[in-house]
Amino acid sequence: TTEIYTLSLHDALPICRSGVLRGRRRKGMNRMKVLIAEDDATSRLLLESLLRKWGYDVIVARDGEEAWRILSSEDSPPIALVDWIMPGLEGPELCRRLRAHIPADHSYRYIILVTVRDEKVHIIRGLESGADDYVTKPFDPHELRVRITAGERIVGLQEQLRHMALYDSLTKLMNRRAILDRLEEELARSRREGRRLCVGLLDLDLFKNVNDTLGHLAGDDVLQETARRVRGALRNYDIAGRYGGEEFLVILPGTERGDAIRTLERIRDAVGGTPMLAQGTLVSVTASLGFACDDGTSGPEVLVRRADTALYRAKNEGRNRVNE
Ligand code: GH3
Ligand code: MG
Ligand code: MG
Ligand code: MG
Repeated sequence: TTEIYTLSLHDALPICRSGVLRGRRRKGMNRMKVLIAEDDATSRLLLESLLRKWGYDVIVARDGEEAWRILSSEDSPPIALVDWIMPGLEGPELCRRLRAHIPADHSYRYIILVTVRDEKVHIIRGLESGADDYVTKPFDPHELRVRITAGERIVGLQEQLRHMALYDSLTKLMNRRAILDRLEEELARSRREGRRLCVGLLDLDLFKNVNDTLGHLAGDDVLQETARRVRGALRNYDIAGRYGGEEFLVILPGTERGDAIRTLERIRDAVGGTPMLAQGTLVSVTASLGFACDDGTSGPEVLVRRADTALYRAKNEGRNRVNE
């Protein structure tokens, strides 16, 4: 499963066309969340009612520390309207903290400072502290609205970039770097929780033949279908990624050796059990798999290397098999 919000090209089109994620909002899906950090109740209510009217999902913080807790959390709104003067933590200091800290979800926070301080020196100081934009009170609602829209555009593009950096465009699975980062996290987590984790490495057998006889496009179809079948054979907390050209890495958290073998045999059967349609032709492909289970001591690289060695043996022993 992909637990982060994934932007497909289809979703991205409305962003390009209307500037924002409006397409999704109109369809009544995920409305964009906006945080209002404002200590003054009157201003807060005014902002809140405007934003709700414009269709945003509004989250409210009454002071800087509360705003910091929300913005540094994993389900933080991507956009925040932040008052400059608040008791405790002020707007610019909040911006500095945010920029010095990479949020756990690695997503960008777009900050609009809202303040009565309208001299140039303040605008410069505000932007220097890390704010993306600046609106002075009393604000013109129309101006505020288009500034938030500009923020949505940046947030949408940032999500698109992030998605492109983490996911393989052909199979829609995580790419090599993302799946390896994920393995490191999952390994640490399973050890903390005293659980077992196994990894499997799958390589399509004689895949070069598919390209050579049916062409590269047919090869691509086979890779896409393989990804779907691998994904379909996993439980929803298992994780799959494209490790290389025709190699897939699967992470099986909370799994003992016996369960790993059963899962990987299920994958092998899902891939090789029935022919795949590739550019109008039915093709039979098989897969070899190697796996390794965490011994509690070595790092993720060693675990993958052990799975790779097992895969190499599976190839040598005749392919279309699971090996440890
Ligand atoms: P083996 O059973 O030993 O693994 O044989 P193989 O033919 O699968 O192994 P080899 O490594 O020689 O070939 C892998 C092929 O995968 C070569 C490469 O052209 C192809 N390939 C890698 N990435 C892609 C891709 O994105 N699309 C297509 N169509 N082919 C790809
Ligand atoms: Mg204030
Ligand atoms: Mg290979
Ligand atoms: Mg191969």
